[in-house]
Amino acid sequence: MQFYSTHGQCRLASLEEAVMTGLAPDGGLYMPERIPVIPRAFFNNIGEMSVSDIAYVVATTMLGDDIEPSELKDIVFDTFSFDIPLKEIESGVYSLELFHGPTLAFKDVGARFLARIISHYSKPRGEEVNVLVATSGDSGGAVGAGFHRVPGVKVFVLYPERGLSRMQRRQFSSLGDNVYPIEVKGNFDDCQRLVKEAFIDSELRGAMHITSANSINICRLLPQMFYYFYAYSQYLRMGNDEAGGVIISVPCGNLGNLTAGLLAKKMGLPVKRFVVANNINDSFTRYLATGLFSPMEPTRTIASAMDVGNPSNLSRILDMYKGDYNAIKRDIKGHSFTDQEIERAMSGVYKSTGYLLDPHGATAYLALKRDVSAEEKGIFLATAHPSKFAESVSRVTGVSFKSTPNPHVHTDCNDTAKISPSLAALKKVLTLST
Ligand SMILES: *Cc1c(COP(=O)(O)O)cnc(C)c1O
Repeated sequence: MQFYSTHGQCRLASLEEAVMTGLAPDGGLYMPERIPVIPRAFFNNIGEMSVSDIAYVVATTMLGDDIEPSELKDIVFDTFSFDIPLKEIESGVYSLELFHGPTLAFKDVGARFLARIISHYSKPRGEEVNVLVATSGDSGGAVGAGFHRVPGVKVFVLYPERGLSRMQRRQFSSLGDNVYPIEVKGNFDDCQRLVKEAFIDSELRGAMHITSANSINICRLLPQMFYYFYAYSQYLRMGNDEAGGVIISVPCGNLGNLTAGLLAKKMGLPVKRFVVANNINDSFTRYLATGLFSPMEPTRTIASAMDVGNPSNLSRILDMYKGDYNAIKRDIKGHSFTDQEIERAMSGVYKSTGYLLDPHGATAYLALKRDVSAEEKGIFLATAHPSKFAESVSRVTGVSFKSTPNPHVHTDCNDTAKISPSLAALKKVLTLST
């Protein structure tokens, strides 16, 4: 597979170039040059397949020419050290629990796959790779855990000074070794902008090998397709038929997860429509309603991992649809919710069913319920374990979490660098640590 840049100002890149540089040299995002369709026969017995078996078929269809099948199989099977069960929590309402990985959020899937692909390419090169990741909460832990103690790799986690839960921060700041936390005096969009600026800074690029572990990086994004297929497989296994395809509600921030779902649909997954769930940072929902996109300053909400005002994957989505707003509107509906509504869903669902939702999953639940008709069923993505947002989940539902020992918490951590949101400040930290 070859990858083009959404800015269209540079030549096609191999998988190795795309993953090892993260952002294209022209500042665009990489996308597969074509989207291969999986043969229909695959869907005939998908209901009997495991997540790893499904992932292997999807991965080889997309990347089979780039990585040896046996190697790709190891990478895929290694990625899924945990299950992603689909649970019916109310009649016709299914929760895809994406939070059983080591850092309790769906970002483990992308981060674990990416870490293994980067190791695959960096080992024979023998040079140090510096991985930059901006986090709104969950990427930092997932990427940190994915690369922790991997020889030849250093990870720099940029996070905003406010908005992370205690567990989110501890998951990366207490790792130590090759994982360096950097607190940015600003919001998540500032962190994301700094990472992008670092990539197009020729001085920095000349001095050290840097790549991105955000969903900017195509290998964070592609593995997120796998669980959409697996959700469908379990949906069939639970006695549903595929007539018309499934409805899937996605809690969105940077739109990486949604982009992966759209790619899965283009590869042949029968999806009737996607439902975007936003908190009040709803620039994408507004775009769907009006056809006009205007980025906004993010506001802090209870679903903090979705506090994004200028989602970086929008350019990929526009590209996939060749900018056709009406086609986008046919495939994607959007709804946004206030903190109060999200909290009411968390407590309401807990009271009526005993099922605990974290604020992000609750937003997706709300959007699904608003969008489906009485005859329709649907799946929402539960992106984080409720215990990861223990403070708000306990306050809203009254359920308390015993503190479980976290295997990723160590005592000797690297000092946190605190920087102003400027490239000069970031460069200083990066060059001092290498
Ligand atoms: C990152 C994150 C999201 C948003 O996902 P995007 O791919 O950025 O749209 C939703 N929920 C949780 C728990 C997250 O960590």
